[in-house]
Amino acid sequence: MTSGWRLSAAAVAASLCVLTLPMLAPGSSDDDTKPNGKGIGTLLNPGKGNGGEAKPVRPGGGANGISYHGGPVMLGPVNLYYIWYGNWSGNAAVGILTTFGQSLGGSPYYNINTTYYNGSSTPLTNAINLVKTATDNYSQGTSLSDSAIQTVVLAAISSGTLPADTNGIYIVLTSADVTASSGFCSKYCGWHTYTSTSSFGRIKYAFVGDPTRCPSACQAQTPGPNGNSGADGMASIIAHEVEEAASDPELNAWYDSRGAENADKCAWTFGTTYTAKNGAKANMSLGSLDFLIQQNWVNATGGYCALQYP
Ligand SMILES: [Zn+2]
Repeated sequence: MTSGWRLSAAAVAASLCVLTLPMLAPGSSDDDTKPNGKGIGTLLNPGKGNGGEAKPVRPGGGANGISYHGGPVMLGPVNLYYIWYGNWSGNAAVGILTTFGQSLGGSPYYNINTTYYNGSSTPLTNAINLVKTATDNYSQGTSLSDSAIQTVVLAAISSGTLPADTNGIYIVLTSADVTASSGFCSKYCGWHTYTSTSSFGRIKYAFVGDPTRCPSACQAQTPGPNGNSGADGMASIIAHEVEEAASDPELNAWYDSRGAENADKCAWTFGTTYTAKNGAKANMSLGSLDFLIQQNWVNATGGYCALQYP
């Protein structure tokens, strides 16, 4: 059985070995551990970045603890697509995460991603927006393999429900009765990867599951600031995956010597928090909703985890 991300890892290996050797940024080395897009880990089972009682990872290569490895980044406005998989009817999560996806771009928080750039020193922009959503009524059942998740994404594009967009990130959001069989809740809470298709080009996509399945592994607190534990937990994972997908879409651009991508280096750390109206902790307001979102790694001034840049 070939899973989506193993295919992608093979594609990455091929691009590194067969195509021209990527230009290496100062301080990077080409034997850095390569990311697999699943570095977030869980609270109980730390990933490549950190987890649980996590501390920011540094140094990790490069002047700022993260290195450029020559691959593409996602420049300009990035388009976000949600695929609501399973049963989300009547769930307030839909409204909460829609607001989140429409409000992340332009925030002081997402501005951290502008400290990353491509081989021509062109930086990412602080522009990402949820432009369209789709639903999938259990087309692949309730236990999704990596390849089934890829099938969900490509089916939404093939049917014309979502456009084929090489500057898009497609996120499969699964309801609480659905799992991902390669390790949701045990090895990871979400992941991102890409697939190279002949019909649609290089499609970047991610999986984010509903952490009410496993609060101790994938939820920082219960309830969250919006009173919807699933959505409140997923917002932080979505932020993590889109930050990485934009700065390391093909798993060959920005990561450190341990294979940790930018958000991996700050996974499960939240910086300074305040108390939301319902008593839950929050650390930022987006679209007039409070959220508790993990920090991201600033690729400047030596590198550090933060909630905003500058
Ligand atoms: Zn990650």
